[in-house]
Amino acid sequence: MKQNRMILAFSFSLIALFSSLGLSLQAQNPAKSLKRIVIDPGHGGTDIGSKGKYSTEAAVSLAISLKLEAFIKQAMPDVEVVMTRTTDIYHSVVEKAKIANAAKGDLFVCIHTNSARGKAVKEVVGYTTKTYTVKKKGKKRKVTRQVPIYKTTYIPSTAIGTETYIYNIGKSDFRKELASEMVDEVVEQLDSVSLKQIKEYESEIDPTKKMMASILAQQYFQRAASLALTIEEEFKASGRVSREAKQRPTGIWVLQAVAMPAVLIETGFISNPEEEEYLNSENGQNELCEAITKALQRYKNSLENQQKANAN
Ligand SMILES: [Zn+2]
Repeated sequence: MKQNRMILAFSFSLIALFSSLGLSLQAQNPAKSLKRIVIDPGHGGTDIGSKGKYSTEAAVSLAISLKLEAFIKQAMPDVEVVMTRTTDIYHSVVEKAKIANAAKGDLFVCIHTNSARGKAVKEVVGYTTKTYTVKKKGKKRKVTRQVPIYKTTYIPSTAIGTETYIYNIGKSDFRKELASEMVDEVVEQLDSVSLKQIKEYESEIDPTKKMMASILAQQYFQRAASLALTIEEEFKASGRVSREAKQRPTGIWVLQAVAMPAVLIETGFISNPEEEEYLNSENGQNELCEAITKALQRYKNSLENQQKANAN
């Protein structure tokens, strides 16, 4: 399994880089505490996301998200939860972003399941006799040959574990490195409706707004990065395999389209039959939601401590 080794180091250096910037931003925009969380169950409706043997990413993401909503309400009664969908309906990612922005959330959490390509293995399972007609010096002649019989078996990928993504705001060679590390894996794909709507949506935003958004994006990035690290820590503590907190430049457009810190949690590999069981099980879903809720509580506490420090 390929690990994205440079990711954490990179995130930390960016956090350090932006923390000085963050200080001046906080003066204008004091650390808001966590009052409203927008949960976005990935995909939905005609966009089923990736597929397991018997379940779809859209359905599993919705089940986990609904549970997460209940967990958060239980653990943090003062936090409001807004869902981008509560049923199996389709929203383009532009619509999802608009729902989150209209709700004026303090945090955007996307719930997804991961998928990796398996391997097709071709093997010889026996031989059969075939007779050919060949022409030699104008004469037709029959030739008998033994030919192998092949059987192709599909072996699912053994990729396992969680990943938490934040949007890659750095425009460096890092993009290239990350892209080349992921060649053998399926990453989030945007459906065609979303792609079309993103183009329209982006052409409508005025430049001043864009600039303000990019300034705030750095503050959001800092918070999202620290939350992503905390979520993966809690997954590890719960016994899950963690593939770490990462940045990704493609397929997660919605993370930079919302005016709030945003993370995308890949809860496990639906393409791995063992993980598909886990993701569909009551126990697995509870374990995942508990870990995410613990991380959110830690994130909320750290924002509140920051607020207290600023007030003094
Ligand atoms: Zn997805």
